[in-house]
Amino acid sequence: MTRNNDLAPETLAAQALGFVDPENGALVPPVHHATTFERPPGGIGGPGFSYSRNDNPSYTQVESLLQRLEGGDDALVMASGMSAVTAPFMALAPGDHVVVQNVMYWGIRRWLLTFATRWGLDVEFVEAEDLDALRAAMRPGRTKLVWIETPANPLWGIVDLAAAAEIAHAAGARIAVDSTVSTPVLTRPLEHGVDLVMHSATKFLNGHSDVLAGALVTARKDDFWERIEQVRRDMGTVMGPQEAWLLLRGMRTLHIRVRKACENAQAIAEAMARHPKVGHVLYPGLPDHPGHAVAKRQMQGGFSGILSIRVAGGREAALAAMRRMTVWHSATSLGGTESLVEHRASTEGPGTPVPDDLIRLAVGIEHEQDLIDDLTQALDG
Ligand SMILES: *Cc1c(COP(=O)(O)O)cnc(C)c1O
Repeated sequence: MTRNNDLAPETLAAQALGFVDPENGALVPPVHHATTFERPPGGIGGPGFSYSRNDNPSYTQVESLLQRLEGGDDALVMASGMSAVTAPFMALAPGDHVVVQNVMYWGIRRWLLTFATRWGLDVEFVEAEDLDALRAAMRPGRTKLVWIETPANPLWGIVDLAAAAEIAHAAGARIAVDSTVSTPVLTRPLEHGVDLVMHSATKFLNGHSDVLAGALVTARKDDFWERIEQVRRDMGTVMGPQEAWLLLRGMRTLHIRVRKACENAQAIAEAMARHPKVGHVLYPGLPDHPGHAVAKRQMQGGFSGILSIRVAGGREAALAAMRRMTVWHSATSLGGTESLVEHRASTEGPGTPVPDDLIRLAVGIEHEQDLIDDLTQALDG
């Protein structure tokens, strides 16, 4: 008999960890809509489920799969990627110093500069791709958390996770990684010494642009993890059973979707690099990308399904090309089956570090030639 422990990640995902309903043999789990569960009288604090702001069987099903795929000790699903981002910071205390990557998902940066700063966290931004800069930013004893995204929105900078983890730990800090873009298909950050992995499960994990969801996976269950669980429970940032069920359904096809998106993105990056109207292609799968060597070591089987191009002719030329696209849809988000384009500088507004000639391409799983042809005609004008 094959043991569950020996199975490849693809198999575990496709079979939702081999789920079979013990009551009726169903191969798909039910949605547990219950908000409350029978307990022995006076049974508060005992084992099992009690109330769905704490936990629910539909959350634990998808958490178990994600924990296995990331190789972690425990996982939590949350209402959104942002609730999974903010929970670890809220598990810290006012006055704690945190070191955060400079160019990364805009919403996190905005939250850190507003709420987290008002709340008393000492937030320091650093070009974390530069390990010397990261080392210099650490304040041993005061720095409690290092926050990295790799590849990082929307320039796709690559951070060497093993080296960054060593630097964080040498200063007595934990390190968390936003692995939304890599997914466990391409990178398993915990294997590189990272303490906490975060996902906007809205993106590749769910993969169908129809669920808002976040997740955290920890290397170990410690007091920090307990405080994170407390944030979810007491702030009520749980996912909801219907969303958890949809997320598990989406994750059954995770590997095949991510691989196809990576293949498409690589082909598009190579085609765009040859296009005369494209000034620069930012994609770690191209040998001229500054993070290529590290990405090759730390990402298996592809360089992600997302890239950016800088359009010769600047902002107006970029926007004009976007208006001519018919296959690519102009919309935010990434990791769905359909390909999306976005002018990030407009979305992020004043103060963004993103150049205004940049178009972000979130690649789906369509036929690659349709995607390349549409980009080419749009750029040719
Ligand atoms: C979308 C995204 C987030 C935020 O997630 P939501 O599900 O939108 O709350 C965080 N990090 C990255 C890299 C993202 O793409």
